[in-house]
This record gives sequence, structure tokens and C-alpha cells, in this order.
Amino acid sequence: MRERFDVVVVGAGIFGLAAATELRKRGHSIALVDRFGSGHPLTSSTGRSRGIRIAYDHPFYVELARDAIPRWRALEAATGRKILHLTGQIDFGMPEKLAGIVAAVRSVGGEIEELGAAGLRARLPHLRLDEPGLFHAQAGTVLSDEAMAAMKAQVLAAGAALYEPERVIAVETGSAPRVVTDRRTLEAGTVVIAAGPWSGALLADIGIDVPLAPAVAQVTFIAAPELVDLPGIGEWGGDEDGLGGVYGHPVPGVGYKLAFSSGQQGWAPDAVEWKTDPQEQARLLGWLDRRMPDFPRTVQLTQRHPWTMTPDGDFIVDRVGPVVLACGCSGHAFKFGPALGPLVADMVEGRPAHPLLALGRSTLVSKTVAANDPILR
Ligand SMILES: Cc1cc2nc3c(=O)[nH]c(=O)nc-3n(C[C@H](O)[C@H](O)[C@H](O)COP(=O)(O)OP(=O)(O)OC[C@H]3O[C@@H](n4cnc5c(N)ncnc54)[C@H](O)[C@@H]3O)c2cc1C
Repeated sequence: MRERFDVVVVGAGIFGLAAATELRKRGHSIALVDRFGSGHPLTSSTGRSRGIRIAYDHPFYVELARDAIPRWRALEAATGRKILHLTGQIDFGMPEKLAGIVAAVRSVGGEIEELGAAGLRARLPHLRLDEPGLFHAQAGTVLSDEAMAAMKAQVLAAGAALYEPERVIAVETGSAPRVVTDRRTLEAGTVVIAAGPWSGALLADIGIDVPLAPAVAQVTFIAAPELVDLPGIGEWGGDEDGLGGVYGHPVPGVGYKLAFSSGQQGWAPDAVEWKTDPQEQARLLGWLDRRMPDFPRTVQLTQRHPWTMTPDGDFIVDRVGPVVLACGCSGHAFKFGPALGPLVADMVEGRPAHPLLALGRSTLVSKTVAANDPILR
């Protein structure tokens, strides 16, 4: 079978769905192909929830997150699904990181409070901290399974073709680009590679080498529905166990999700499941003993999922010939959801890449990346 589209998007995770939706809005014909199926448990864009915050140490991400919130709200209104649960967030840890966050948020007119330990305890009584930190209100939780279902419904309603589960086995560049799947050949004006942890191999096959390090990261859901209105937390640094700081947020219907901000080695492209690590769970409960001793301890669920680190913690959204790259999520892309679409669509339409996300940026080539690097942004 042979079909032709203006753009073929490889991967229907959050990057691919957002790109396809925006490109349909701009009038392009679109096919999306997904190997496992959008939101499959082996992929990055899966599971119950993700944290959302505008607390970033670079104004680009602050503005992107502020742009994402009304877009998520519009998606809620269009699909009737509840996607956002915003209860604010407390950030603490490395003073230089916190100072960078305050500067970046305020530089674009965002609101963030600097609080002493007593002020932080008033926001989250369970937290045992002697040091100052930050609180901001435009933060909390994205209900990611609802968000993925809503994004998928929206892109299908907009007229994109979605082939899933279907695996892209070759991308042919040149004067007439083609995407070859295990079932058909799709001719494309532009090919978007939004294949999450699998992007590096697909890109290497067409001669584009990108420093990407897929990792698997674990999340723990504490059963405590009464805590659902608590703010989220973000600990920067705090590396006692070599697993980075801890982040967390409330999850309606469950309680609270907690996780270390470093993934671990061991990602494999053809894995059929990610087994949870009981030792990591024990270390997380040890962190709770130190930082939040009064917090409930009943673990409802522990899951592992993959993400894809870059050397500098920034995404890659750029173009090489007929191929657009939308990858290198660095563990923090989900919150931006629909706001990722215009970034990718601009590349398809030939606009220049944002310097922070460009393939040629110096921090992408001058630094090395390891799977267990912590989330940097
Ligand atoms: C444990 C964990 C916690 C996280 N927490 C947060 C958070 O709190 N806040 C936040 O903002 N972000 C968070 N993230 C990051 C966020 O989930 C990712 O940045 C985001 O989901 C990346 O999406 P993606 O579209 O790049 O990749 P994916 O969702 O992996 O999408 C890629 C898709 O490509 C498909 N594919 C692969 N190979 C092929 C092929 N050959 N042919 C066809 N299709 C193919 C796959 O099936 C997959 O569906 C977290 C991630 C993890 C793993």
C-alpha cells in the first residue's frame, strides 16, 4: 500500500500528538504511525499523572508552561475530560537553582513566592525543612492518561490518519522522502521523528547522530486520597542515594505520587515490560522518613517508564533536510502538551529552530550524557 501525506509523524506520544494536531490546524495532511500504540505502557507518555510547573530556571520554559495551561484548559472544554489539577508547587534544595527559578519566572512576569521554613510548612505541613524555598500557584498535576486520550481524540477529529500499532522500519530521505512501516509505505513531504527513546536509532539510520540517553524511571503512588489538595514538590539536588532529588504531586482518586528525578540505566529498545525495582521503592520510603515523616506509607502502585536525556537537559526540536526532530524529552516534556505542537510545526514550515532546542547548540555537543543523569530543568 502506498499513500501520500504532507507530513508523516513517527510516534504518537505527547510530542507526536501535539505536532500532528497543530499541523492539521495549519492545513497539512498528516499521518501518525505508532509502534506500540499511543500511550502504551512501554513508552514515555503513559501512566496516570505528570507534574506541571512554571518554576523553570529559563524564561523559555516558563513561558512555554504558561502557554500550555490555557491550551490544556481548552482541551478539557473541547473533550469534557478533566486534565489539570492545579494545587501549586513547593521547590527547595540547591540555592543557586532556586535563585535561577525566581529570576526566570519573574523576568517574564510570572508569580513565585520566596518563603522561609515556616512559610513552607504552612503550605505543606508534612515537609521537614530548615531551609527556605519557593511556592508558586501555576503548578500541580496533569492527569496524563486523560490528557493522552483527549489529545488522540482531538487529532483524529481533526482528520489525521493514525496507524497503530504499526512499526516504522525505515525512513528514506532524499528527493521523495518515504516512511516504510511493517504494513505500508507512506510518501511524505516532511517526516517528523517523535519516537521518544527510540528516536536515536531511527535518526542514526539516516545519518543523523544525536546524543540521546534513554533511561527508565520509577514512580510510586501513595494511597492517601485525603491529601489530594496538597501542593506538588520539587527537590533540586539532595543526592544522598545517588538518585537525585525527589518530586511529587497529588493524584485525584489515588493520593500522592513521588519519584526520584534520576532515571536508571537498563533501557532496551525491544523490552516487553519494565519491572519495578523494590530497592528504589525502599529508598523512596527512606526519603519520606527523613523529609516527610508524618506522610502516609501505603504504596498503591509502583511503575517504571522510559525517558530520554540530552546532555544539557533541553529538548531537540530542529530540522535536517526533510526530517524534523522532536525528541530528547529529558524527563520533563509532558506538561507542555499542546504547547509543543507549534514548536514542531514551525520546523515543518521552515522556520528557524529556537537556539535552546537547536541541534547545533554548543551544549549538545560539548557535554556528555548518561542515562542516570538527573532532570536538569
Ligand atoms: C517516570 C516518568 C516521570 C515523568 N514525569 C514528568 C513530569 O512530572 N512532568 C513532565 O512534564 N514530564 C514528565 N516526564 C516526561 C514525559 O513523560 C516525557 O517527556 C514525554 O512523555 C515524552 O514523550 P515523547 O512523545 O517524546 O515520547 P513517547 O511518549 O515515548 O512517544 C514516542 C512514541 O514513538 C513510538 N515509536 C517508537 N519507535 C517507533 C517506530 N519505529 N515506529 C513507529 N512508532 C514508534 C512509540 O510507540 C511511542 O508511542 C516523565 C517521564 C517518565 C518516564
